Amino acid sequence: MAKREKKQLSLSGSSNHQDFFLLCSALDACPSGIVITDNNQLDNPIIYCNAAFTAMSGYHEHEIIGRNCRFLQGEDRAQHARVMLKQAVLKGSSCKVELRNYRKNGDLFWNELFISPIKDETGNITHFMGVQNDITARKKNEQDLLKQQQSLQKEIVERISKFEDSQKFLSSILETVRESLLVLDDNYVVLSANEHFFRTFKVNQQETIGKQLYELGNHQWDIPKLKELLFDILPTNNPVENFEVDNEFPQIGRKVMLLNAHRIELDGAYKDQILIAIEDITERKEVEQRKDDFLAIASHEFKTPLTTIKGYLQAFTRSTADMLSEKQKQLLEKIILQTTRLNTMVIELLDVAKIKTGNLTLNKTVIDLNKLIRETMEIMQSATPNHSIELHTTGDISLLADEPHIAQVLNNLLSNAIKYAPDSNKVVIYATRIRDHAKVSVKDFGLGISISEQKRIFERFYRAGEVQQKYAGMGVGLYICEQIIKEHDGSLWVESEPGKGSTFSFTLPVGLKEYNEE
Ligand code: ADP
Repeated sequence: MAKREKKQLSLSGSSNHQDFFLLCSALDACPSGIVITDNNQLDNPIIYCNAAFTAMSGYHEHEIIGRNCRFLQGEDRAQHARVMLKQAVLKGSSCKVELRNYRKNGDLFWNELFISPIKDETGNITHFMGVQNDITARKKNEQDLLKQQQSLQKEIVERISKFEDSQKFLSSILETVRESLLVLDDNYVVLSANEHFFRTFKVNQQETIGKQLYELGNHQWDIPKLKELLFDILPTNNPVENFEVDNEFPQIGRKVMLLNAHRIELDGAYKDQILIAIEDITERKEVEQRKDDFLAIASHEFKTPLTTIKGYLQAFTRSTADMLSEKQKQLLEKIILQTTRLNTMVIELLDVAKIKTGNLTLNKTVIDLNKLIRETMEIMQSATPNHSIELHTTGDISLLADEPHIAQVLNNLLSNAIKYAPDSNKVVIYATRIRDHAKVSVKDFGLGISISEQKRIFERFYRAGEVQQKYAGMGVGLYICEQIIKEHDGSLWVESEPGKGSTFSFTLPVGLKEYNEE
């Protein structure tokens, strides 16, 4: 190449002109930009460029020839690639760099430049040739990719740190809660347990982690009903709620444990893992038991003197019938009313005690439900002049039931309907037979009950917040009603809207052959 260059520059013969023309045509046909610089002239000027180079740079040939290649970098001089180029030119060696160049219109383009020296016969460097390719598109892709990688890395780092934070947060919660916690895999094998678990059950990691729940200790958790419930958690997502385990535990003796279990959910996705929370409720149970015992004893002890007072009152009323003034009679009536109330409360407390000890016994006979409702209504109606009690019934309803207990339920629902609807004037009872069941609804137009309270009013001693001060009561009436209805294999429920009123309904199986055979 150097030889031919020299010839081209010094020769003028026609065959050399043809060679030169051929050479230029060949170089112009090359898709890469090509420049040749003259190393022997001041500032190594460009003496040749091909068509691809003019297209790439946007300059005309006459704007290129005579200049040093650096004009393509414009002001952008501080490029490491330029240092490499300079060293290669000084050393007379070839090199490949990627340079930021600028077109005539000022647009940046990335130039992949390969320079190599051209030597004469004596080995002196006379020229340099640069082959250039516009790699702007590739560079852009690389840079985009780099940016993507960097933002991906950043996101991963952020996510890991978030995950670590939430892991730390989670484990600090697990360690601070005052409940024993276990995480199980889908084979009920313990994956982890918190400190509270080890402390409560006086066991260590080796005895716990990696073991199946059912083989822990003396197999205290191996309870068929519990197994059944846990088995359902993963496929159905149904949690186990308030399951009581009253058992002998190896290191800590007899205890009552309350167990709640849920399928673990992380970042909105369910995992095949179960979180079990275990609470030692032995003491709470004992306290409850003592309270129940106290209530049973106290109400039993109140009953005898109360019955005596009632007897004396009746005798007193009879013997003084004509001797008392109007005022004295009114006072006596008030004493009788309050004594009856006290008696009802004591009977209710005794009922609660009976239910707790499983001693609520039913004495079922065939009863006429409509008749029973009418009798109860009459008693209630006489005590409440402000409300009119209506009965809507669809016909005869006979059923096998414990009459006094069903009367007690009706009585309770009616008295609540009156008590908690002081500003309304109507209570409606609906009685009907639905196939082999009787259904009774007591509808009032009073205070109503919020959804959250509706769930709790059947609990023992529970009274809705707003009624506590204003209305007398102990909060056991509905509890007793529900137990009585349950004992009859029926169900009791409420539908209510605050401010509009409530409807308490119960169903009872009629329990008679003639209906069952229908
Ligand atoms: P008590 O009436 O002695 O409080 P109950 O067990 O009969 O006890 O009722 C429990 C609670 O349910 C009541 O305190 C009251 O808050 C609510 N409740 C019961 N019946 C009605 C009703 N008809 N309307 C509104 N609230 C009611």
